[in-house]
Amino acid sequence: MRIRKSALRKILNQAERDYPYETCGLLLGRWEGNDRTVFEAFETPNVNKSRKRDRYEISPVDYLRAEKKAKSLGLEVVGVYHSHPDHPDRPSKFDAERAFEGFSYIIVSVCEGKVVSYRSWEFCDEGFKEERIKVFGKS
Ligand SMILES: [Zn+2]
Repeated sequence: MRIRKSALRKILNQAERDYPYETCGLLLGRWEGNDRTVFEAFETPNVNKSRKRDRYEISPVDYLRAEKKAKSLGLEVVGVYHSHPDHPDRPSKFDAERAFEGFSYIIVSVCEGKVVSYRSWEFCDEGFKEERIKVFGKS
């Protein structure tokens, strides 16, 4: 996937800010064949009530808001991002159960309030497959 630097920075800042809870949001961009280019990160509140430390949930209303925003920019929702406080940047079983085929999933690992790593995973019929992240843009 290709991602604009400003969008990536927003995701990483948000992951540190919301520690020790999982942060989440949607990736707005375009499909180019099987690949995606992400231009914006759309923040959504984590509406999970009981397990915010190791679960995230995006409400249908926020999803619709993101779609509307994407449309206004000539983009689409192409993926999801979230953080794993004190856990590695690999998808959990829970993440796989909720993933959409064709979407990209950026997972940020945050330890003691600092981002330590992040990776992007594409969800296809065989499950999650890691994809390379290429950052573009100056800011
Ligand atoms: Zn997760």
